[in-house]
Amino acid sequence: MTVVSRHPVQRLQPFTETIFAEMSRLATEHGAINLGQGFPDSDGPASMLAAAQQAIADGHNQYPPGPGVPELRQAVARHQSTEYGLDYDPDREVLITVGATEGIAGTIVGLVEPGAEVILIEPYYDAYAAAVAMAGAVRRVVPLVPDGDGFALDRDALTAAFGPRTAAIIINSPHNPTGTVLSDDDLTLIAQLCQEHDVIAVADEVYEHLIFDGRKHHPLATWPGMRERTIRISSAAKTFNVTGWKVGWLSGPADLVGAARTAKQFMSYVGSGPFQPAVAHALDHEMDWVAESAAALERKRTLVSDALREAGFGVHRSEGTYFVCADPRPLGFHDGDEFCRTLPERAGVAAVPVSAFVDDAATWQHMVRFAFAKDDKVIVEAAARLARLR
Ligand code: PMP
Ligand code: GLN
Repeated sequence: MTVVSRHPVQRLQPFTETIFAEMSRLATEHGAINLGQGFPDSDGPASMLAAAQQAIADGHNQYPPGPGVPELRQAVARHQSTEYGLDYDPDREVLITVGATEGIAGTIVGLVEPGAEVILIEPYYDAYAAAVAMAGAVRRVVPLVPDGDGFALDRDALTAAFGPRTAAIIINSPHNPTGTVLSDDDLTLIAQLCQEHDVIAVADEVYEHLIFDGRKHHPLATWPGMRERTIRISSAAKTFNVTGWKVGWLSGPADLVGAARTAKQFMSYVGSGPFQPAVAHALDHEMDWVAESAAALERKRTLVSDALREAGFGVHRSEGTYFVCADPRPLGFHDGDEFCRTLPERAGVAAVPVSAFVDDAATWQHMVRFAFAKDDKVIVEAAARLARLR
């Protein structure tokens, strides 16, 4: 065994540069329109931005309390009670984190023993695999499978994945990268399996409000028996267009939240001090803004999906998030990874290969993800550029 090296430790070697950073770098290099990394190109609600400026002016510039400022924890609790009838004690059952990313890492590192298994749904957000690796745990991957023009959970594979070594499952609905919303039947099966096998559920619900076509988000924690074994994770990033603020939170029973906090306090201790009261304000007062933003995104989803279809891509159904997945094979491109690496230069557009989110590269190799949280004019220009690929 090499004791000292200048490389990342073995278990982190697959994670050297995130695909989002890499594709954004290529986009910048080639002056391409960035439909790769998922971030919006417009600001969040003005009153929230003003509240952050005010918080800085008022001197909220030192360490906030470890669990987060009380007004944000209370707003997070109120929000979940109003939206879903889920009641959490803001002092013991809510933890503010440095984005959902730290919520995920803190939960897995704080709750999963080395060698235990964590079930991920493939394609999975890259931070899940990295968190599992940091914990020294083992990921067990269950695929989404094609279902019409969308995707659905492979229920047999899911059932088979649960076993005596399973510590946790991470689910993400609405789902990055596919835009899939898990059905109530899928959630019922997940709830049943978690209880049968005494497994903790980590529900990454950062896109809870970005859901389309009149659907409503149903948190796994609302299923009978699940509040007691679910850590629900969300974030201001995508709800309020502030991906740079890194204000996230998790909610769950006090023992699970306490375990996540044990790890989290040595990751960052705290973060985003002046942004926390601003997000509290937004949760209490700006949900109408969020509804309008989701309606606009739904339109953009349709705009981008139609444009991709017109340009000759196969296009999958996106039911939520910022993302739509497309198949460039009809245009003669069979490798999504290669396609995305050359697209900024070739077409002046950046996208992300879905192969970055999977273990089973062969099945997903062709697929690419486009982000559509962009100004309509930008989308129209990107569409015109992609149309020239033919
Ligand atoms: N989970 C998913 C599914 C995401 O797409 C993202 C990116 N918004 C995150 C977690 C990370 O969220 P944050 O930026 O709040 O850390
Ligand atoms: N969540 C964003 C995406 O999926 C990216 C976040 C990041 O760059 N780490 O595009």
